[in-house]
Amino acid sequence: MDDCIFCKIASGEIPAALEYDTPDVIAFRDLNPQSPIHILVIPREHIQSLMDLGETESDLLLSMIEAAQEVARKTGIADGGFRLVTNVGPDAGQSVPHLHWHVLGGRMMKWPPG
Ligand code: 5GP
Ligand code: ZN
Repeated sequence: MDDCIFCKIASGEIPAALEYDTPDVIAFRDLNPQSPIHILVIPREHIQSLMDLGETESDLLLSMIEAAQEVARKTGIADGGFRLVTNVGPDAGQSVPHLHWHVLGGRMMKWPPG
């Protein structure tokens, strides 16, 4: 996708603070962090949202889970706990139409979310 910010981060065209880098999945610091640790896990491939995942993406899903686990361990939030969030569509506030998981931690989280 030519005009997708996250595709540009995946290709290196736009710089980002990478925390995880594999052929299928990368993770990088959110530009506007909502918690002391706020990292985005994305597939390199352009997939719009969770709703576009299916059986053929099962390996990719596992890779994304491994990425979330690894960044949580690496940033020291695995034991204390963290939140994994994916916004899907306008009502959820998805602002970048490229599948991403927010890994949020380093502070106490509230429930319900805003
Ligand atoms: P969404 O609102 O779609 O769930 O999350 C998009 C996230 O991407 C936001 O938290 C926003 O701060 C982050 N973001 C948007 N543009 C950039 C960028 O160019 N670089 C980085 N690192 N994060 C970005
Ligand atoms: Zn994209």
